[in-house]
Amino acid sequence: MAFYDYHVHSCFSEDSNAPMVDMVQAGIEKGLAEMCFCDHVDFGYTDPGFAFLCDVEKQQEEIAFCQQKYDGQITIKKGLEIGLQPHVLQQYEDFLPQYEFDFILASMHTCQQKDIHTGAYFAGKTAKDAYCDYFDSFLTCLKQFKNYNCLGHLDILKRYGNHIKEPDYEVYQEGLEAVLKQVIVDGKGIEVNTSGFRHGKGAPYPSYAILKRYKELGGEMITTGSDAHTPQDLAIHFSQTYAALKEIGFCYVCTFLNRKPYMHKI
Ligand SMILES: [Zn+2]
Ligand SMILES: [Zn+2]
Repeated sequence: MAFYDYHVHSCFSEDSNAPMVDMVQAGIEKGLAEMCFCDHVDFGYTDPGFAFLCDVEKQQEEIAFCQQKYDGQITIKKGLEIGLQPHVLQQYEDFLPQYEFDFILASMHTCQQKDIHTGAYFAGKTAKDAYCDYFDSFLTCLKQFKNYNCLGHLDILKRYGNHIKEPDYEVYQEGLEAVLKQVIVDGKGIEVNTSGFRHGKGAPYPSYAILKRYKELGGEMITTGSDAHTPQDLAIHFSQTYAALKEIGFCYVCTFLNRKPYMHKI
């Protein structure tokens, strides 16, 4: 079965030291049919230690170099992982048309202008508020912003169980499902991010229960991504995840070319 890793970082992301060629070579060794570099552009990111502003011009030059060097061995695509926040959406509308991309992954790493990774967002919040506010904010963004293809690691909050305990699904179900419905209505998709296995969660982001619900609501479009920042993490737990997706009832995973989806039978 062919595998497609649609969430790959390289040293064009501030939190990765991996040269792009190393990531591509690992992709070839691991037998990937295709990989998409989604380096970070996160406008208004609140941690002063990280700028998360990929130099897209240089990143795309390096992608073009790799496409030529590894032609016939693997397909390489031009993507970005952007960080949504309601007050920076116009910045993305101005920024994205300056380049040509195959794929835009929209994630939320910051909520209410507070960093999730450092735990600042969770301070003084109940688990219910933390989860509900997160999905409310996501929905606010998606109602205005359509310049993306898939949503990244939808239930990433569960990664930060050291800051806040994950509430029962029913607690945040309404907010989360409103996001899923918006994605479906807009003809967009969600990613299945296997870094959850790396983080000891025993499941991807989002969880299989959420993926099942997405399918029930009519969701078809999914990409698979490892969120690898190092060559060894590329395509991690893909065979297991693809098998689980088939079991849930997904028949296809998506790849993108010039922002248009292509469905591949799994
Ligand atoms: Zn992310
Ligand atoms: Zn990422």
